[in-house]
Amino acid sequence: MAEGDVVTMDKIVSLCKRRGFVFPSSEIYGGLGSSYDYGHYGVLLKNNVRNQWWRSMLQERDDVVALDSAIIQHPRTWEASGHLAGFTDPLVDCRTCKLRFREDHLAQSACGRKPSKHPGETPECDLTEARDFNLMFQTTIGPVQEEGSTVYLRPETAQGIFLNFKNYLQFSRKKPPFGIAQIGKSFRNEITTGNFIFRMREFEQMEMEFFVPPAEAQQWHQHWLSERMNWWTTLGLRPDHLRLRPHDADELSHYSSATSDVEYLFPIGWSELEGIANRGNFDLTQHAEFSGQKLEYVDTATGDRYIPHVIEPAAGVDRAMLAFLVDAYDEDEIEGEQRTVLRLHPTIAPVKVAVLPLVRKDGQPELATEIFRDLRERVQAEYDEGGAIGRRYRRQDEIGTPWAVTVDHQSLEDRTVTLRDRDSLTQVRIHIDELGEEIENRLRHPWRSPKLGA
Ligand code: ATP
Repeated sequence: MAEGDVVTMDKIVSLCKRRGFVFPSSEIYGGLGSSYDYGHYGVLLKNNVRNQWWRSMLQERDDVVALDSAIIQHPRTWEASGHLAGFTDPLVDCRTCKLRFREDHLAQSACGRKPSKHPGETPECDLTEARDFNLMFQTTIGPVQEEGSTVYLRPETAQGIFLNFKNYLQFSRKKPPFGIAQIGKSFRNEITTGNFIFRMREFEQMEMEFFVPPAEAQQWHQHWLSERMNWWTTLGLRPDHLRLRPHDADELSHYSSATSDVEYLFPIGWSELEGIANRGNFDLTQHAEFSGQKLEYVDTATGDRYIPHVIEPAAGVDRAMLAFLVDAYDEDEIEGEQRTVLRLHPTIAPVKVAVLPLVRKDGQPELATEIFRDLRERVQAEYDEGGAIGRRYRRQDEIGTPWAVTVDHQSLEDRTVTLRDRDSLTQVRIHIDELGEEIENRLRHPWRSPKLGA
């Protein structure tokens, strides 16, 4: 982790549970490995992340359209895509501690004995040869397991896009270069788990397949590398915690001619947030062959026909959330008291404004409720009247609420309130009638992480 950064994974896990962002799934039964449930503030944050992705793909462009395809596809899909044969991790078993490890993650894995060592590190470790293990979850369609057909929970959302390519050529009035974007759940039976929501067995992806004339593929790859880096920094991630890392030739997936990962400096070190691949025409060619359908673009004016090449930015929603939380986490001191604060970009903060009566009497709760009802028409707002005002501020700081409105005795006389800023801690007095517009104005302002310094 960068010098001076106070954040650790343990602090994030504990804040997420304490403040209702993320809970271990099935916790009353002891939890289920690498599955997590999102609580109220987690849902709000996740919705904001998704909405910002959609906004950048759909609203701010005119060459991308949306899709929401099924999680269970025809099983031939995964034969054609190469997942059935090749979506595997090499696994080794230890005959001594009886645990199973990813061969390429031995250096980061811990063996089951105490004190724990890396598998293979001691003479007692007795590792088997590596065997390939497919990461796809398998289930059956049909009432009787034996007679039904085997299907798979999708390990990526991308294939649903390729299966619909033909439909989109017909209805969307788009021609290459154009893209199809999708957000949805994907499933991988991951073996190396841990690290909270960084690696889950059920997770969400934001993927876009951008179909281009073959000669333009390289140029569009560059375009999407810079678009996507901009997206992460515009939403507040510190540029010195982000980097683009091109894959080495031996790392490239079977379908890819070039891939660069957007990496973030998590507390576990630099790790992938998003992969941006040039998939060539691999997927459309494979699905054309396996389905017997023509999956090509025909230019009606010139008669030209070709199989488009594909540029794919593929990001994880959960990893995005983890990066935003890690980047935002901060601790400081106010009037001798320690404060934990999430310095989230206001656009993605779960709650934009909290409305707090100073005391629970003298007409203050009534006026505060009136203000809250007005503000929630415009933005996600929260009303809180319980407990000391300092504690209520602390609670909002911990969930990253950028602004708090406080109603006090003066408010009842002149209909002004104080507006407190989470990061600068400044409080300005403002008339109630101007509040809504002021908050919307502030939301439109570019924002820079205070953790970057002046
Ligand atoms: P890794 O090397 O970390 O396993 P990957 O290269 O297999 O990831 P991709 O197939 O490129 O990942 O998927 C695109 C994105 O989906 C990743 O950048 C990541 O953000 C997200 N993702 C992939 N696997 C998981 C997972 N198990 N849990 C959470 N997010 C994931």
